[in-house]
Amino acid sequence: MHAYKYTVLFVCAVIFGTQAYQPENKPDNAWSAMKKPLHGAPESFGSYANGCMAGAQVLPSSGEGYIDMRRNRGRYYGQPELITFIQHLGRYTANKHRRKHLIGDLSQPRGGKMNFGHSSHQIGLDVDIWMQTVDINQSVNPRRDMKTIVDKAAGVLKHGGMEPATRDALYFSARYPQVARIFVNPVVKWHLCQTESDTSWLNKLRPWWGHDQHFHVRLLCPSHSPNCKNQKPPPSGDGCNDSLYNWVDEQSGLVTGRIKPKKRSVSTKKRKVLPDACQLMLSK
Ligand SMILES: [Zn+2]
Repeated sequence: MHAYKYTVLFVCAVIFGTQAYQPENKPDNAWSAMKKPLHGAPESFGSYANGCMAGAQVLPSSGEGYIDMRRNRGRYYGQPELITFIQHLGRYTANKHRRKHLIGDLSQPRGGKMNFGHSSHQIGLDVDIWMQTVDINQSVNPRRDMKTIVDKAAGVLKHGGMEPATRDALYFSARYPQVARIFVNPVVKWHLCQTESDTSWLNKLRPWWGHDQHFHVRLLCPSHSPNCKNQKPPPSGDGCNDSLYNWVDEQSGLVTGRIKPKKRSVSTKKRKVLPDACQLMLSK
């Protein structure tokens, strides 16, 4: 378990932890070079970290209760269910809190591997949502930086904690039937374990490195996508346990130097094979 977690740590420090600082001028790969969706019926192929999609829809740059950030990246495409989810969440937050969400990356026009920043987000069913919300009437600088809400060394939320609108957005997302998982920093989940009177809805909140500036919502494979691979459902229960606390403690130890990072172990996993439909899509 530990070796696995450290491997994950190294991979994710690269994938998630430094997301805000990744260079945006990396050369395109075949997928990031594709500037238009493949028209036709919407469909996701493969898995969240190895797949692609057809029939993607565009998330409008703003709507009730949300504004899409970093539009220049061209990662505002998703399956219709993902676009609908973001619009529902925005409406909920606008009505309840008079605030709006700042939306991060969805997927590229045809999904697939990105040239920087994520290993998943490949099949149009993942979205990053910033932890901070803004007043519904506030204009937003699209170059604004994400801010962390976590004091990783202390293993607690920073002063100011979590906005009520963000807590409610997590609650809304966790109860949304098509949501499979929500990735949050272990400290965010630990905080909710300690402050919620009913913790049963925390089941879908999964602790993961990074995710202290944004949370990541992942939808289940839609019924129209028979070749989309769901993950196993999260383990039963609220997940407020020793294992979660170990994530918090390890993160703190790594930041303070109390724990030394271990060398990344060589993966014995087989090389991922891209689904046939995606191979074909690359040639269209
Ligand atoms: Zn993400």
